[in-house]
Amino acid sequence: MKYIGAHVSASGGVESAPVNAHNIGANAFALFTKNQRQWVSKPLTEESIRLFKERCAQYGLDARYILPHDSYLINLGHPEEEELAKSRAAFLDEMQRCEQLGLQLLNFHPGSFLNKIPLEACLDRVAASINGALQQTAGVTAVIENTAGQGTNVGHRFEQLRYIIDRVDDKSRVGVCLDTCHTYSAGYDIVAHYDDVFSEFDRIVGFDYLRGIHLNETKKTLGSRVDRHDSLGKGLLGMDFFRRFMQDPRFDNMPVILETPDETRWADEIRWLREME
Ligand SMILES: [Zn+2]
Ligand SMILES: [Zn+2]
Repeated sequence: MKYIGAHVSASGGVESAPVNAHNIGANAFALFTKNQRQWVSKPLTEESIRLFKERCAQYGLDARYILPHDSYLINLGHPEEEELAKSRAAFLDEMQRCEQLGLQLLNFHPGSFLNKIPLEACLDRVAASINGALQQTAGVTAVIENTAGQGTNVGHRFEQLRYIIDRVDDKSRVGVCLDTCHTYSAGYDIVAHYDDVFSEFDRIVGFDYLRGIHLNETKKTLGSRVDRHDSLGKGLLGMDFFRRFMQDPRFDNMPVILETPDETRWADEIRWLREME
């Protein structure tokens, strides 16, 4: 079974996210547990935590299908020590918020080398950052998202995801999230070579590590390494790709999250996807 939702707003408090997910007919969702553009946010209140859990239970939204996303400011592979420490502290706070909310996954972009250190040194730092956060928390899996490879962002090749996983001590709490827009922009042709791309993913990373999907259309061409999401029915992947995806059982039983730009279309997009299943 597919669990489909969108990255919904949590403005007014995390407890509004399950309501927003329910209102678009979702049985999965993503959210930010703090303001994604600020380094420091107020701790979650007991009341917010209680309401969040109560509403998730009320609407049948299970923690296995909730994929929180960390702040865009965090760079777990930062080349400079002071900035790296700041990112690691912020990431730990995000993991702890997930623990408080009873969540099991935390999705993040691996990092950027900023042309100051070699790419592999950046990946080493990302792995060390994950190890540090996992040692200080329990029950939350670090879910590395593949990127479009824009600028100096790492994680656009499956080999890089594997490189990080290989250096994480607790393999039971590391996983990956594939973003379909990023995958295509990074140069993997999931339109013309769907089977080959996902076989390659399985060989290099392994479906065992797949914890979630960001199901996005893309405005940018194959290999452009530019990250521009589009709405379903508009971009370059096309509905045949989405039909194929919906009929592929390898993507069952994990959060499938729309990060498509027009939120007024989310309810329709979810409905279209369900009709293709
Ligand atoms: Zn994404
Ligand atoms: Zn993106």
